[in-house]
Amino acid sequence: MERLDAFMARANATYYAARDPYADFTTAPEISQSFGEVLGLWAAVVWQMMGAPDPVILAEAGPGRGTLMADALRAIGRAAPAFRAALRLHLVETSPRLRALQAGRLPDAVWHDRIEDLPAGPLLLLANEFLDALPIRQFVRRGAGWTERHVESGRFVELPAAAPDLDAAEGEVVELGEAGRALAAGLGARLAAEGGAALFIDYGPEHRAPGDSLQALRFRAPSDPLSEVGTADLTAHVDFSAIAAAAHAAGAATQGPVPQGVFLARLGLPQRTDALARGKSPAQAAALLAGARRLTEPHAMGRLFKALALCHPGLPELPGFAG
Ligand code: SAH
Repeated sequence: MERLDAFMARANATYYAARDPYADFTTAPEISQSFGEVLGLWAAVVWQMMGAPDPVILAEAGPGRGTLMADALRAIGRAAPAFRAALRLHLVETSPRLRALQAGRLPDAVWHDRIEDLPAGPLLLLANEFLDALPIRQFVRRGAGWTERHVESGRFVELPAAAPDLDAAEGEVVELGEAGRALAAGLGARLAAEGGAALFIDYGPEHRAPGDSLQALRFRAPSDPLSEVGTADLTAHVDFSAIAAAAHAAGAATQGPVPQGVFLARLGLPQRTDALARGKSPAQAAALLAGARRLTEPHAMGRLFKALALCHPGLPELPGFAG
C-alpha cells in the first residue's frame, strides 16, 4: 500500500521515462509556435527590468520535446540579441528519454533533475504544464473526521488521517499539493535572494475548493488513474493560491494568476499569429489562427489555464500581468 502522492510520483516517473507523452496529450507549445515566441519575448523584457544581468540563467522546468524553448530562443535571437548573448540555458527534466529529445533541439543546454539544482545567480524560469504533474495527497471527509487515500492493487484504500486545511461536505475530497508548495517555497526564497522571476502556466481554479481533480490521460482519452501504473499521464489541478502563499512566505512577490487567454493577448500572441499567417496558403493560415484561438478562447484553454509569476519583490509589474 502506498500513499497517493508516492503512487503518483512513481507512476509519472515510470510514464515519462518510457512513453511518448505526446501520444496521450498535446500542449500549448505544440499547438502554436507563437506560444514559445511570446514567452521568450516575455523573458527578454523581464531581463531588462532586472537590469540586464550578464550572465543570466534562462531555465525551463519540464521542457517536453523542447518546442517551447526552441521557439523562445528563435524569437529572442531576432528581437533581443544582447539577452541571447547573456543567457545560459538550463533545463530541469527527470526523464532520460525526453532529455534526449530536448538535446536534439537545444544542444547548448545543461540538464538538472530538480529546480533546486540550478546554479546560483539571477534566474528566469519558464514552466508550462509542469506543476500539474507533481504529486498530490487526497483527503476524504468521513463523518466527524477524515481519511487519506492510499493505493493498493489498483484501488483506493482510506486510512484515518489528520484534518487537511480546508473543510468539505461528507464524502468530498480535499487535495493537498505538498510538492508544489515546497517547490514554490524554495524557488521563492531563491528569487528573493538572488533576483529574477519564474513564470508558471498551468490549469486549475483560482480559488481552491473541495473536489477530486486527479486525471489520467491515455491516447488522448481519460482512463483509470490507478490501473496499469506508468501507462498514463497523471495530473491534478494546480492550487495557485497555495503556490503563491508558499512563495510569499519565503520572501518573494507574486503576480497573477491571470487567465491564459488574457495573458497571451496582452503579450501580443494574436498579432504574432496574424503576422505568421500572412503569405501562407489559406489552409496553413487557417490552421495557425485556429491554434491561436484554441490557446486563448475561454471555452478552450483560455480560462482554465492560468499564468502565475513568482519574482523578486523589487520588480515592477511584469508583462501580461498589468491591466
Ligand atoms: N512543458 C512541456 C511538457 C509538459 S509534460 C510542454 O508544454 O509540452 C511535463 C514535463 O515535465 C515532461 O517533460 C516531464 O518529463 C517533466 N516532469 C514531470 N515531472 C517532473 C519532475 N518531478 N521533475 C522534473 N521534470 C518533470
